[in-house]
Amino acid sequence: MIRGRFAPTPSGHMHLGNAKIALLSWLQVRAADGEFILRIEDIDLQRSKPSITEGILQDLQWLGLGWDEGPETIGAYGPYLQSQRLEKYEEALQTLQRAGRLYPCFCSRADLLGVAGAPHGLSSEGAVYNGTCRNLTREEQQAKSQLKNPSTRFGLQAEAFTFVDGIAGVQVFQPGSGGDFVVKRADGMYSYQLAVTVDDAAMGITHVLRGDDLLDSTPRQLALYKALGLQPPQFAHAPLILGEDGHRLAKRHGDLGLAALRKAGTRPETVIGWLAYISGLIDRPEKTAAVDLVQGFQLDHISKTPFVLSESMIRQLLPH
Ligand code: GLU
Repeated sequence: MIRGRFAPTPSGHMHLGNAKIALLSWLQVRAADGEFILRIEDIDLQRSKPSITEGILQDLQWLGLGWDEGPETIGAYGPYLQSQRLEKYEEALQTLQRAGRLYPCFCSRADLLGVAGAPHGLSSEGAVYNGTCRNLTREEQQAKSQLKNPSTRFGLQAEAFTFVDGIAGVQVFQPGSGGDFVVKRADGMYSYQLAVTVDDAAMGITHVLRGDDLLDSTPRQLALYKALGLQPPQFAHAPLILGEDGHRLAKRHGDLGLAALRKAGTRPETVIGWLAYISGLIDRPEKTAAVDLVQGFQLDHISKTPFVLSESMIRQLLPH
């Protein structure tokens, strides 16, 4: 039985880009008669809002993308809100600590920004860490911790990570790529990388389908799976929807929130048909229900090209 998930961060309303990912991961699971899990990634309580979570649930229902387990479910794999799973992240952190894989990092934001100009380059999470704090002695660590709270970094080993992405194909990441990364911030918040790995493993997720902005997070997560002795899922990364400026879809590209479309009178079948069309699943953007796409769905039908959303496309989605 395959288990897939949609794992939105409730810091912003659902837009067409999120909806595309939700649709594709839902189809992957439904086509294999598997279980679809909805996990709310509200670990950053400052940025997450319960009203947005509520809106995401409504948008998914409206689109016809139902889930088998989610925030309202009480069950073996729950709770399904990251804010209620903190002790699981702490446990994993302790395991990594015992294995000698963590170190305190005292670098300031300014130190890290300075690193951006260094030869280590950039990853999707910003500057690649150059390892300044990796080899501090215990005395140095103690002296520095008098002055500030450290963050906690995971130290990569000299190993390459290779995997076959269900959409993007073979991926090879050289040893150390992305650099040592933060698993717990100085303010005590666990990182996305740690939380997502712990949760996908604990929730028995076998298939992860998500946006390709997270492709370069995957080797980090594979390193965590390995260090924690956990079995990684199969990954598939789908191209995002971009705005006309080439950046991923955001509020500045006009109000493409699903709630706004719904309010304007757009039908869910119009949105699903259009998402299926731009994903390469159907030949024309005709009205379609999500269930009607299940039969015959295959990952290799998904278009590998990011779709650029123009103003005229937006107009097509609004009722005439
Ligand atoms: N919570 C992440 C987001 O909304 C997705 C995490 C994942 O799918 O691994 O971008």
